[in-house]
Amino acid sequence: MSTSSQKTALVTGGAGFLASHLTDRLLSEGFRVIGIDNFITGSLANIEHLSGNENYRFIKQDVTQYLFVNEPVDFVFHFASPASPIDYLEHPIPTLKVGSLGTHNALGLAKAKKARFLLASTSECYGDPLIHPQTEDYWGNVNPIGPRGVYDEAKRFAEAMTMAYHRYHNVDTKIVRIFNTYGPRMRLRDGRVVPAFIGQALTGQPLTIFGDGSQTRSFCYVSDLIDGIYRLALSDFHEPVNIGNPREMTIRQFAEEILRITGSHSQIETHPLPVDDPKVRQPNITRARKVLGWEPKVAFEDGIATTIDYFRTRI
Ligand code: UDP
Repeated sequence: MSTSSQKTALVTGGAGFLASHLTDRLLSEGFRVIGIDNFITGSLANIEHLSGNENYRFIKQDVTQYLFVNEPVDFVFHFASPASPIDYLEHPIPTLKVGSLGTHNALGLAKAKKARFLLASTSECYGDPLIHPQTEDYWGNVNPIGPRGVYDEAKRFAEAMTMAYHRYHNVDTKIVRIFNTYGPRMRLRDGRVVPAFIGQALTGQPLTIFGDGSQTRSFCYVSDLIDGIYRLALSDFHEPVNIGNPREMTIRQFAEEILRITGSHSQIETHPLPVDDPKVRQPNITRARKVLGWEPKVAFEDGIATTIDYFRTRI
């Protein structure tokens, strides 16, 4: 059990890439952490370093089932969801369920425990955006019935549910819209562009650019993202906040950077662009700067070098 002054945080999706880094940060800040995961896309390897840690407890459960926690909880961080395009295409219905039923359960738990609640939302709420860079007051351009709709609409529903619990039940809620993030503990084969290109470069396989590679993304190193989320959790701000790194590049530039940094002689080959793949993405982080005093600190060159070193140990 926690000591009286020690805060307890419950983290859904606790064995995932981002939630496992968040857990490490919370433990280092003196929290007790309860992780919940059903391992659809999470991995035991991301949390095995916590075994034996007396401030960590793990529950294997699907958060779309009723959450029973027999101890006080001060913070609920709702991170459970398949989050890479190939994952949510492979698990469309669990993705919709965790964003809807799972969010409802996580909010219900926060309400019952009088805990603060933070929703891991996404830049996918903006869909294929018609304004650029994206500000939080942009309502987005999402195709509800396209293949990505299962993720985008689940997260948009989760945001609506979160604001309803805030307005109607007075739950102290926060919403972070997470932009593309990279770093150690990503799955080599999760299909996202960072592990895909690094894995291909390190094994001499062709880098698979989808479309002509002119689409853009802006990549944030994981420690920067977690710092923004931690600050948001402690803030009194209830509207969505973008957290991401505004340094934007085309996917072709990204491929060339990976080849240069790894010294790989891999070829580049092009494949069809996935349906509804956003053409541009860059966070406007004015709100995060103002409300949280946050901005990213890790340069792309440094973050990507650390990430490449991590993937070298995984190949
Ligand atoms: N992409 C690519 N090759 C790959 C994987 C992804 O060209 O092997 C592209 C993808 O079409 C998208 C961008 O890289 O335009 C980022 O894709 P990712 O799956 O990482 O995440 P998204 O930002 O689309 O959610």
